[in-house]
Amino acid sequence: MRKPVLAANWKMNHGPSDARAFMRTFLARYARHTDRSVIVFPPAVSLGEMVAATKERPDILLGIQNIHWEDKGAFTGEISAPMARDAGARVVLVGHSERRHVFGEKDDETRRKCAAAARAGLRPMLCVGERLEERRAGETERVVLRQLHAGLADLDPAHMAQMLIAYEPVWAIGTGQTAEPRDASAVHVLIRGALDQLAGDRAVEIPILYGGSVNTGNAAALLAAPDVDGLLVGGASLDPEGWATIART
Ligand code: PEP
Repeated sequence: MRKPVLAANWKMNHGPSDARAFMRTFLARYARHTDRSVIVFPPAVSLGEMVAATKERPDILLGIQNIHWEDKGAFTGEISAPMARDAGARVVLVGHSERRHVFGEKDDETRRKCAAAARAGLRPMLCVGERLEERRAGETERVVLRQLHAGLADLDPAHMAQMLIAYEPVWAIGTGQTAEPRDASAVHVLIRGALDQLAGDRAVEIPILYGGSVNTGNAAALLAAPDVDGLLVGGASLDPEGWATIART
């Protein structure tokens, strides 16, 4: 059985001091639950604070929001997978819609980043999702499957089993416009079918999260939808009280 995964993507919010204050409140309101996994993706500069804050709370996993695909070298401003792991990250977001659509990240880069993460022992959380015009044009399936196949292209089933997938329709991210649970579910079923083909028996280990304007009011309904194994939350994870409520869902 897959445990539900509740993941917080802080994006470019909560530097070290804010992260410390956030965790004081959050940990006081979120007791350890063994029936779910909680992951927080802080900005990389806050990872050290987060490692310190979660020293007594191994139930909270830490992630990094981006990595470079090379392990080291002349790539000013970049962070590699082995470095992220050394700093305390255990999971990495790959192909988040802001990376794809603000920074122009291509499928080929997501492929290389997933492979780099797997080499370093970091679990990639591959984000896939269609833009509004693609949904309107009936291209959701094609886009999502293309992104999924690209991200997994260099991984064997054992490494695929370490992955997490986040279905995040681009039109729902940061817009307040959430997918209906049944619409999210339909895409999750599609992804599950593709994973079964790609990873065989190991596919059952891969959680598929939904992300896009999740909040305290809609989290339970989305989490209850068939084939939705967890939630990836941006804006609503920035407030420690709200995030604790969602993590307890
Ligand atoms: C995200 O950043 O992955 C996200 C889903 O953001 P939001 O919850 O703000 O839509």
